Amino acid sequence: MMDTPIAAMQPRRTLVLHRSSRLAPPMAVGGHGVWLVEQGGREVLDASGGAAVSCLGHQHPRIVAAIQAQAGKLCYAHTSFFTSEPAEALADELVGDAPGGLCQAYFVSGGSEAVEAALKLARQYFVEIGQTQRSHIVARRQSYHGNTLGALAAGGNAWRRAPYAPLLSPAFSHVSPAFAYREQRADEDEAGFVARLAAELEAEFQRLGPDTVAAFIAEPVVGATAGCVTAPAGYFQAVRAICDRHGALLILDEVMSGMGRTGTRHAWEQEGVAPNIQAVAKGLGGGYQPIGAVLVSERIVAAIEAGSGAFQHGHTYLAHPIACAAALEVQRVIREDRLLDNVIAMGGRLEEKLVERFGNHRHVGDIRGRGLFRAIELVADRATRDPFDPALQLNARIRKEAFARGLACYPSGGTADGRCGDHVLLAPPYIVSPAEVDLIVDRLGEAV
Ligand code: PMP
Repeated sequence: MMDTPIAAMQPRRTLVLHRSSRLAPPMAVGGHGVWLVEQGGREVLDASGGAAVSCLGHQHPRIVAAIQAQAGKLCYAHTSFFTSEPAEALADELVGDAPGGLCQAYFVSGGSEAVEAALKLARQYFVEIGQTQRSHIVARRQSYHGNTLGALAAGGNAWRRAPYAPLLSPAFSHVSPAFAYREQRADEDEAGFVARLAAELEAEFQRLGPDTVAAFIAEPVVGATAGCVTAPAGYFQAVRAICDRHGALLILDEVMSGMGRTGTRHAWEQEGVAPNIQAVAKGLGGGYQPIGAVLVSERIVAAIEAGSGAFQHGHTYLAHPIACAAALEVQRVIREDRLLDNVIAMGGRLEEKLVERFGNHRHVGDIRGRGLFRAIELVADRATRDPFDPALQLNARIRKEAFARGLACYPSGGTADGRCGDHVLLAPPYIVSPAEVDLIVDRLGEAV
């Protein structure tokens, strides 16, 4: 059978299930650095970083070579019988120095799987130590933890949850997000805001029965549901204290905000607290292979070791050798090329340029984020912070205008439960240059 030439292929057989838009997408055929190349040759500046995964940009020669080398050596070996060199080396890279007490890694294929594993680990931990009554998970509204049923139940995105609500476990409940622009009252300062959020969380523990709560789960910097929302100072310390007081675990979902995106490998390093369980994905493999991981603290590992001896969970592709080899090389490049320095420097420049361009814009209410994880929030009225009518789909229209100008912005955009307005989110690769940062803001400016 003859191969169909690429030029003749229409993206029809994936269209309905892969895309929410009814427009036929262009075909991506290549990439280099921060640029994606379309069929026909047009180049698009990828300020979306893929899905905030492509931290090294596209077709990085070292990662391509690492994948090729591993594919020539070993592609698959069942994890019931074998471990592999790349899996062990990657675990060593991530938890070899036990950051924050996290001492073991469990590799899966993406963010949702990592969150599922984190939730089940928390539950299994309490079963192992005989606290079987601990089954509640407290999460936050306007959060995103993934699309599988457990992760979706943890998430607080009303729009995503709605069609599947009957399938979502009632073990999950939700408290207010630490979203100062939307939730902090005019008559309270930052400390007062944090105290109110802490009181609400404490009250939720009391409502459920503090000894029935297994874990609290949160994104250190909220990504796609709210647009790069950082927590106010002291918030995560207050959360950690409440979990500790009641013997519950803290799970941090760093799928989007982790692995360097905010300027430190883990976003929690900037909060002064460490989680008991952490989910990572996206930047872990840089988009070169599907991979996620759960990083787990000594206390949980020890309980499983002393108890049943194994995590009762598994996937066919866990610790896939090629995925682990790619992720290991991604992490080595980030370290050896000192790319977190560039995340901080270019993140600062991006913020500066966004403020320069949009700081006085009557429809930009907030410019926020950390590192190369930034968003602008669009408002109908700066003074009242009223959002635009969601029916306008302003963020989608801006993204479309930007794309027409050769700029890809992350496809997210608030209005999830009517509490936040539209936003445009930027998550460019860590290798972005000053000139490319300026071009991102120029093109976004034209689009807005
Ligand atoms: N958690 C967070 C914070 C995320 O941003 C995402 C993906 N956007 C996920 C979990 C789910 O990851 P995945 O899409 O790889 O399943």
